[in-house]
Amino acid sequence: MTSNLIVIKIGSSSLTDKIGRLDLPNIKRIARDIAKLKSLHKHVILVSSGAIVSGSGKLGYKEKPRAIQEKQAAAAVGQSLLMHEYQKAFAKHKITVGQILLTHDELHDSAKKKNAYLTISTLLKHSVVPIVNENDTVATDEIKVGDNDNLAAMVAVLMKAGLLINLTDVDGFYEKVGPGEMVKLDVINEITDKIKASASMSDKKHGTGGMKTKLEAANLCKSSGTVMIIANGKKADIVKVSATALGNDSSVVGTVFRL
Ligand code: GLU
Repeated sequence: MTSNLIVIKIGSSSLTDKIGRLDLPNIKRIARDIAKLKSLHKHVILVSSGAIVSGSGKLGYKEKPRAIQEKQAAAAVGQSLLMHEYQKAFAKHKITVGQILLTHDELHDSAKKKNAYLTISTLLKHSVVPIVNENDTVATDEIKVGDNDNLAAMVAVLMKAGLLINLTDVDGFYEKVGPGEMVKLDVINEITDKIKASASMSDKKHGTGGMKTKLEAANLCKSSGTVMIIANGKKADIVKVSATALGNDSSVVGTVFRL
């Protein structure tokens, strides 16, 4: 396990505003926090969504399109918009970024997987921040990872990261404790049936819609001993989140999965 390697996954909801435009102040804040982590001698890989949603706005869609070709076209436009903004935000901190687009294929074919590993390792050696997304323009339903929670966990396992920070639009994982009553858990050591049931419950306020794939991601992380933490991508201080997850700070931020 490379304990000083941190994978940060950021979802579309943390990167865009209410009408699907890129949330530039938040992108700048994330770049600033990652620069701080790097000054603390951490290596960072960013797994970023947001290609389809930001491309959709640019192509004039009022909401995310449904047809696969439309999504792919939106991703082609959105991915370059996204990288352009990341490049500018990181350049302020004299950090170079590199784009890595993967599909299920690369992560399951041993030769391709090795190439992905070597490319990412070499970028890290050069102190570059690799920015990973699924290669949406070629990923059809059959070969899709489908969601960036699983993609980020696969990258964390591939690179044997010490920590996966999963940034989303809620403060952590909420467990159902009674009718209409959800309570945030600080630490999860085991994914119990109660936790699985809470994840599949739809609750807009606590955003549990995306929690099922986050539990899958936490499970994948087990194989490389990677700790995962879920935190709020619009407001959490990433440096504090990483210290909490690594047990170097007693403050309670998000939900830590130590499985
Ligand atoms: N790869 C998709 C995008 O960049 C997002 C997948 C996800 O949000 O999990 O739009």
